[in-house]
Amino acid sequence: MLTGVRQPGRRFALSASERGDFFRRQLDETASVAPLSNMAFILGIGSVIVFVIPPEQTVVRVLGGITILLVFLNSTRVAVSLRVPRWRQSTRFDYIGLMLEVVVIAILDIVLFSKLFTTIDSNYDVVIIATMAGVMGAGTINFYTVRSASLSWIYIHGLGLMIVFSMHSEPYLPVLAIQLAIYMFALTVGAMYLSASFQRRWMAEIQADSERQTVSLLLDGFEGGSRDWLWEVDTDGRFSHISPRLSQLSGLSVSDLQDMTFGQLLNHLEITSSDEGKAAAELLVDKFERTTPFRDIVVPIRIDGDRRWWSFSASPRVLEDGEIRGWRGVGSDITERYVHEQEILRLAATDSLTGLPNRRSFGSELERAINGRGNLDRVRVAILDLDNFKSVNDTLGHPVGDRLLLAVTDRLRTVAGSDVFARMGGDEFGIVAHVPAGRNSYVGFERYLDVLQEPFYIAGNRIEVRATIGYANNPDDAGDADELVMLADLALNEAKSTGRNRVGKFSPALRAWASERATAQQELDRGIAANQFELHYQPQVNATTGQVVAFEALLRWNHPVKGLIGPSQFIGVAEETGMIIPLGAQAMALACAEAAKWPAGMRVAVNVSPVQLLSIDFCKMVESALDATGLDPKSLQLEITETGVVEDRAISDLHTLRSLGVTVALDDFGTGYSSFATLQRLPIDVLKIDRFFIVDCADHQMAVVKSVVELASLLGMVSLAEGVETPVQLRRVQAVGCDLIQGFHISKPLNAAQLEAYLAATATSSGQNFHPLDSDFSRP
Ligand code: C2E
Ligand code: CA
Ligand code: CA
Repeated sequence: MLTGVRQPGRRFALSASERGDFFRRQLDETASVAPLSNMAFILGIGSVIVFVIPPEQTVVRVLGGITILLVFLNSTRVAVSLRVPRWRQSTRFDYIGLMLEVVVIAILDIVLFSKLFTTIDSNYDVVIIATMAGVMGAGTINFYTVRSASLSWIYIHGLGLMIVFSMHSEPYLPVLAIQLAIYMFALTVGAMYLSASFQRRWMAEIQADSERQTVSLLLDGFEGGSRDWLWEVDTDGRFSHISPRLSQLSGLSVSDLQDMTFGQLLNHLEITSSDEGKAAAELLVDKFERTTPFRDIVVPIRIDGDRRWWSFSASPRVLEDGEIRGWRGVGSDITERYVHEQEILRLAATDSLTGLPNRRSFGSELERAINGRGNLDRVRVAILDLDNFKSVNDTLGHPVGDRLLLAVTDRLRTVAGSDVFARMGGDEFGIVAHVPAGRNSYVGFERYLDVLQEPFYIAGNRIEVRATIGYANNPDDAGDADELVMLADLALNEAKSTGRNRVGKFSPALRAWASERATAQQELDRGIAANQFELHYQPQVNATTGQVVAFEALLRWNHPVKGLIGPSQFIGVAEETGMIIPLGAQAMALACAEAAKWPAGMRVAVNVSPVQLLSIDFCKMVESALDATGLDPKSLQLEITETGVVEDRAISDLHTLRSLGVTVALDDFGTGYSSFATLQRLPIDVLKIDRFFIVDCADHQMAVVKSVVELASLLGMVSLAEGVETPVQLRRVQAVGCDLIQGFHISKPLNAAQLEAYLAATATSSGQNFHPLDSDFSRP
């Protein structure tokens, strides 16, 4: 019977314990139907005893009674052991009990039947034959799970009946015997079929069970070490596999989860409490509806008020016939990683000092504003630049500079409103303003300047901060974010050059100007590389003796196409583009090299642009020109302008160079806002009085020249009159006591060849056009 489980064609081998299980299931199944069918049996036999057997047939009645009692007792035992497990006997015991019941009752049945058949009225034959047939059939069904029991039941009854028939001679008995054989055959087939189908059903169950166990073993192994879990839902979204980890993470019991769909779980976890959650939910719904697999959809949820991030990946479970069974996938709690990544992203987008968005995120915000702009709306991009921040940094130090930037940021932020307000770096801020349609006259950036009007007090310093703003419009000026920033920058530069502390708007003319600048810069660059620049030299002579004391070096551009170009045409561009740095260095080197060839004591005066003077490497540049040419530093004079000495570092550079022997002349004196105080604190040797005062020989102008000369002498400086063109001018400046003279009247600027000749000619005499005054004027 047990070996019967091992059938060819079964899908997997049963272990000993599985075989035991199967046996137990067979018996339990039989036992669970036995009481009811036994009841029928008892009633059937009982009614035969009561109604058919005559009372004097004591033996038969006793036999029937015993049969009924046995069946009743065994039924009771089975029923009790089914319900009370600790009274349950071993499987083998139950089997033997069952077989005994089958054999004993079957034999008693037959004995009872043969007794009845011989003793009772033959009118009742048909009743007892029908009863027997019923009993056989009922028993077969009753014991169908245990094939040996049902077959035993059939054959003991069948063969017993055949024997009884053979002992009698009623004429219908042979026919009945044939019918009985056919009946037995049919019952046998039925019993075999039923037991086989029971076995198949059980095998399927056991297989499913073992698969489930394997899966959950795998799942437990997978989930054991990570924050991930597997999930599986049916087509309705209901969970068909509930991971203990999901239950643990969600704070919901397995039975709660069993009653939920995937969507209900996410709703329960408040997925729609945030915009990104809603977006993620929509994405998930879309994937489910279109049955497309998805990966790493990040879903923000809330568990007991705590924000957490889960990530889901899944694919549809498709059956072989293409039908969709549901979904299976992985879920993980990625909160720590997500928060970390977000923090890194945030840091990458933030300026570390001010906490404002940085240049990078300014770019993406601008991009977003441009893309999200309504058809008639405008996006206005502005660059705000602090006018004097650099000098604060240089004079008060970086810590104060940083604190000032923070204070400025705080103030600007108060007026930023809905504008994107970012730090572009240094003392530059970026603003993106959205201007709704119909508000074309709206400018609004002035408020950023107004809020800076009040001074700042930092570390005991009162600091005035002014700013300049340049802006451009989208879509009017440009569509591209980078280009808009560039145009705003152009507008900023323009606003700065035309008087700072104001808001400048980009105009197309600026673009043309900028492209000219760009071309000019390229040309300058090429000119410097090709050594197209040369120096002309204009003598400076002693006003009394006419002796040449120095030559001022003046740049000329020997342009291959345009010919000789004067400095007024290129110095401005060179300063704005920064090309003055390499160009000035080249001029310095040339001048020093030339002067090194001159007679001892003769100086060369080299013009220095404010841009050069403010550059960090200025000192080094001068020193290396001196070193390279071997020129005595005493023979070098720097011509600076007042705008070049606004910064302390420039002044300290001049002191450094002066300590080497280099002298300094203040150029174009009188044109700027020079004050006695500034003059005093500057390391100046020569004061050059601007040509403007010399050209006009009116008396009041000469009075100015006279007072400047006296001021210079008071401060221990030498005075020089520029632009002396006529003998009259010469006499007048001589008369007010000017020390040195320079101008066309003495000599025009000379090229290298002319200079040689000039030097040779003046080696013995004074300047050619020089007419010494009375010997009263005998200043050095
Ligand atoms: P600046 O430093 O005031 O130079 C004097 C300018 O006045 C020179 O013009 C010179 O030719 C001109 N000049 C001299 N005497 C007379 C005169 O009697 N009458 C008139 N009308 N003009 C006279 P230039 O060479 O055209 O230079 C113009 C400016 O360019 C210079 O003015 C100087 O600021 C700048 N510059 C020249 N060379 C250099 C240089 O190497 N570096 C820098 N940074 N600037 C330079
Ligand atoms: Ca000069
Ligand atoms: Ca000058």
